[in-house]
Amino acid sequence: MPPTSNIEIEIIPCLSDNYAYLVKSGNACAVVDPSEPGPVRAALARRGWKLTHILNTHHHLDHTGGNLALKEETGAQVVGPGKDAARIPGLDIGVDEASGWEFDGRKVQVLEVPAHTRGAITFVIDGNAFTGDTLFALGCGRLFEGGPAMMWSSLSKLMTLPDQTKVWCGHEYTESNGRFALTLEPGNAALQTRVQEVKAMRARLEPTVPSTMGLEKATNPFLRPDSAEIRKSLGMESASDVAVFGEIRSRKDTF
Ligand code: ZN
Ligand code: FE
Repeated sequence: MPPTSNIEIEIIPCLSDNYAYLVKSGNACAVVDPSEPGPVRAALARRGWKLTHILNTHHHLDHTGGNLALKEETGAQVVGPGKDAARIPGLDIGVDEASGWEFDGRKVQVLEVPAHTRGAITFVIDGNAFTGDTLFALGCGRLFEGGPAMMWSSLSKLMTLPDQTKVWCGHEYTESNGRFALTLEPGNAALQTRVQEVKAMRARLEPTVPSTMGLEKATNPFLRPDSAEIRKSLGMESASDVAVFGEIRSRKDTF
């Protein structure tokens, strides 16, 4: 069946700084990374939408904590990384890059992006990338289950998505990510502009998602280890991209 209508996406703030997302297409409605059931329930009731799927980008509790309650209440099917099946509560459909997935007749691209966790995936639905804790607005996830080379290869995979791809990430970390980014690349005009915009948005308590792949490539230091200014800031003018990426990641760990 072809898609029956345009896609609608609603941002659901959860816990202290998590984002879950409702994705609606025709009679299908998915929630991405439900940290907790309450705010998801409230958003569904407000919209009058019936949940059909629960998508998880990775196993961490702040992305899966609502799985079992929402599954029990709605009968929704849980879709997540097949390679991490044992750690996804209530998993019904394990997906990977080869399988992809289908949502209301739409082909959903599944990208395997390990390193934050070894099973991490990104769902790309109709030009919308749900990146979980792999790629953040102006940042990237911590390396819990992989090293810098693994994360750099995962981020490089995301960088092959078209520039207009919308990026919906798992946390609102953008303002502090921006402060860190400016320490490495203060001369990046696009970054300066974005940091000002982000500050203003946060002052109005607005979410800074979605961003776009094009904007991330222009401003996110974790996607810019080839930047001459970043390399100079780090004293790593002739190092490899992976080595520069690894140094940026380890500096952010203690920022
Ligand atoms: Zn996580
Ligand atoms: Fe998280």
